[in-house]
Amino acid sequence: MREIQIGGLVPFTTIDYPEKLAAVLFLVGCPLRCVYCSNPHLLNVGDGEYDPARIMEWLQARVGKLEAVVFSGGEALMQGDVTIEYMKRVRSLGFKIGLHTNGFYPDTLARATDVVDWIGLDFKATREKYPDLTGQHIAYDNMMRSLDVWMATGKDFEVRITCDPRFINKDDLCAIADILATRGVQKIAIQKYIPHFEDAAHQTDAAARNQFFDDAVLRERINGMFKSVIWRE
Ligand code: SF4
Repeated sequence: MREIQIGGLVPFTTIDYPEKLAAVLFLVGCPLRCVYCSNPHLLNVGDGEYDPARIMEWLQARVGKLEAVVFSGGEALMQGDVTIEYMKRVRSLGFKIGLHTNGFYPDTLARATDVVDWIGLDFKATREKYPDLTGQHIAYDNMMRSLDVWMATGKDFEVRITCDPRFINKDDLCAIADILATRGVQKIAIQKYIPHFEDAAHQTDAAARNQFFDDAVLRERINGMFKSVIWRE
C-alpha cells in the first residue's frame, strides 16, 4: 500500500474537535474545486510534503497531551484505505479520530465508521447551486449519502454550512435547515464566509456576508430547529 500524503499540520487546536485538544492533519487531494477554497495548494494528490513516519513519531510524543487527531484536507477520504489504515494507527495510540469531510466518498466513509469517532460534514449549498460552487455534479448527492451513512452509526457529528453570499441566500439557508431538521440532524454550524487572498474573484461586501448573522428572526427560527446551532462569525 502506498504511503499517506500529508500536506499540512496544525499541532494544537481547541476548535476542530468538540471539547477536545486536537492536532489537525491536512491530507492532499480533493475531488471538488470550490470557488472559495482556502487550501488550493492541497487539492492535488502528490503534493504531500510531510513524512508520515515522522508525524507518527510526533504523535506518539503527544500521547497524554493531545486528546484527538482530526483528518482534514483537501478531502481526507480521497486517499481511501490508505487514510483509513493511518487513522487506525493513530487511534491505536489512544487518540479520538475526527474527520472534516465534504462527503464526496460515502462508500469510503462507510468503511471508516469503526475508526472515526466524530465528523464535521460540509453542506455547501442547495442541490441546484452545488455544481456552480464545487465544479461537481454529483457532489450534493454523494454528500447526502454520506450524511445517511454517518447518521446510521449513531455517532456524534456536526453539519457545517458556509454562507458565501454568492451561493447561499437566506431562503437557501432556511431550505437547508429544513432538510437537515427533517432528517433528524441535531447539531449544525453556520459559518461566515470570510474572503481570503486566494479568492480574488469574490466581490462580496460585508453587509452581504453578515446578512445571515444580523437577522435575529432568521437566527431564532433556525436555533429553534436544532439541539445546537453554532454561529461562527
Ligand atoms: S471541498 Fe474543501 S478542500 Fe475541497 S475544494 Fe472545496 S473547500 Fe477546497
